[in-house]
Amino acid sequence: MKVVGILALQGDFLEHSDAVEKLGFKAKEVKLPQDLEHIDKLIIPGGESTTIGLLAEKYKLVGPLKKFISSGRSVWGTCAGLIFLANHLEKLPIEVRRNALGSQKNSFETYISAPDISDKPFRVLFIRPPRILKTRRKVEVLADYKFGNAVSPVAVKYKNILATTFHSELDADNPITKYFLLKF
Ligand code: GLN
Repeated sequence: MKVVGILALQGDFLEHSDAVEKLGFKAKEVKLPQDLEHIDKLIIPGGESTTIGLLAEKYKLVGPLKKFISSGRSVWGTCAGLIFLANHLEKLPIEVRRNALGSQKNSFETYISAPDISDKPFRVLFIRPPRILKTRRKVEVLADYKFGNAVSPVAVKYKNILATTFHSELDADNPITKYFLLKF
């Protein structure tokens, strides 16, 4: 049985664990470097990227996480997890701006389309999301969204990394968790 590690330093790791277990996979919390040894895939949840970064330094996880990613095993970062992958671990070649929507409309629910992931639009939550300003090298855009009058990528793929600027793990049948577990 595939074991899915969930980085459990801060943020909504419990929601990701529930979503993974509902699909019949085993979820394992990752708090220390040795927790990375026996997992097949890793999810880095949303939360506060500065805090996740500080705790990852404190628990000596930065090097082991980079090694895990280089080993080719699949990793999915959501929201703060995406920021952490790009800015802290420097494994995702995108330019990202934190809290990019300003204070007026910084959290909302909407539907997005991502044909590689689902044949119909699905519900997502943007919670003080980052904005992807630029994608570099071979980053593939799986979905984008129009914020005001500017379109930005909201789901991208780079080698063995999947990254999304929104939350979807609260919906039991959200297609992204399924896509990450079964097809990524
Ligand atoms: N605003 C958070 C950050 O900058 C991200 C928010 C989230 O993960 N939902 O890290």
